[in-house]
Amino acid sequence: LPPFDPADPLGIDDLLDPEDLAIRSTVREWASDRVVPHVAEWYEKGELPGIREIARELGEIGALGMSLDGYGCAGASAVQYGLACLELEAADSGIRSLVSVQGSLAMYAIHRFGSEAQKQEWLPRMASGEVIGCFGLTEPDHGSDPASMRTYAKKDGSDWVLNGRKMWITNGSVAGVAVVWAQTDDGIRGFVVPTDSAGFSAPEIKHKLSLRASVTSELVLDDVRLPADAVLPEVVGLKGPLSCLSHARYGIVWGAMGAARSCFEAAVDYSKSREQFGRPIGGFQLTQAKLADMALELHKGILLAHHLGRRMDAGRLRPEQVSFGKLNNVREAIDICRTARTILGANGISLEYPVMRHATNLESVLTYEGTVEMHQLVLGKALTGLDAFR
Ligand code: FAD
Repeated sequence: LPPFDPADPLGIDDLLDPEDLAIRSTVREWASDRVVPHVAEWYEKGELPGIREIARELGEIGALGMSLDGYGCAGASAVQYGLACLELEAADSGIRSLVSVQGSLAMYAIHRFGSEAQKQEWLPRMASGEVIGCFGLTEPDHGSDPASMRTYAKKDGSDWVLNGRKMWITNGSVAGVAVVWAQTDDGIRGFVVPTDSAGFSAPEIKHKLSLRASVTSELVLDDVRLPADAVLPEVVGLKGPLSCLSHARYGIVWGAMGAARSCFEAAVDYSKSREQFGRPIGGFQLTQAKLADMALELHKGILLAHHLGRRMDAGRLRPEQVSFGKLNNVREAIDICRTARTILGANGISLEYPVMRHATNLESVLTYEGTVEMHQLVLGKALTGLDAFR
């Protein structure tokens, strides 16, 4: 029998092939060199300095639009993209958010629903990290219920004129291009908006206590005039943004387990060196019970992420299954981080350790890309056939 591996107690790595392992180590090394040594300081200051350079480096390692084909994208498998999300979020949820929004939301929308000209214009520069993208769906008054959005795109001759506001938009202030969803006379449509368009502005949202190493912004659209070909031609209706969200949520199923792994490792290390009552606290049964339970949920979550990844690679992943994974893994990840926090005692609240940072980051992850309640309602509907949304 192979020896017991505390880092992989279920032997899940046996499911990976050499290419998967190589991609995972590339991303892990990049994140430990470029993010881990600095992220506490970025978090404390509430900024992501050098974000443009970070985006370029992420482009160089193939992490932007990673599972998309062509246009300079890496064409990786869903499992490989998931492994990258896990490694990035083990560093910080803010970096994983940058990558998710770029690849799974902004690039995915253009790749799946854009014209050939839109793809040629934006995707290669987004894959390289030269252009950062954002995805504007949420509004100040419409979050969980985006169908009620107020942002409107009106036809004026052959042009479109957009008015409205979007809120809580990741990457907004640093984006070169925004994919903005708006009502039109024919239903909800997506627009590719260069952020230097007249009437467009993206003030940054300050005073966040979560995802502090991530840029979050409001988008203000004040008579933004766009040519006829700015609309994404291939989709009308909410299924457009929802299918992008499904792709991004899939990455979060993996990513959340990265934050959890980082906290679990911190808790194990600490419990072996911290002594109270003359012994390492890791030798007390109550601490071991916590560690055992954390390990169960961590590795069950990773196994679930693999399972969903394989289904996505086989073209068999349903949105309800993504809800299953997002709901479970983010909820369990936050629980693991909070338990780790208790094991570190007072040190658990310090930025000297990654634990509190991850736990507070996951408060955002719990809410964005569909709150816990929205995923419970998706599953509730799928299980009963009864719609409890409204
Ligand atoms: P609300 O929809 O107002 O919900 C408030 C509470 O009511 C929640 O608990 C919710 O579950 C509950 N609730 C609502 N309806 C029901 C119901 N029918 N039954 C039971 N409970 C209900 N959005 C983007 O478009 N692009 C981005 O890049 C982006 N990035 C984000 C980054 C951060 C850091 C954060 C915090 C958010 C981001 N969001 C983004 C927005 C995010 O998707 C929304 O916050 C989320 O959809 C929830 O919307 P809301 O905050 O308006 O909450």
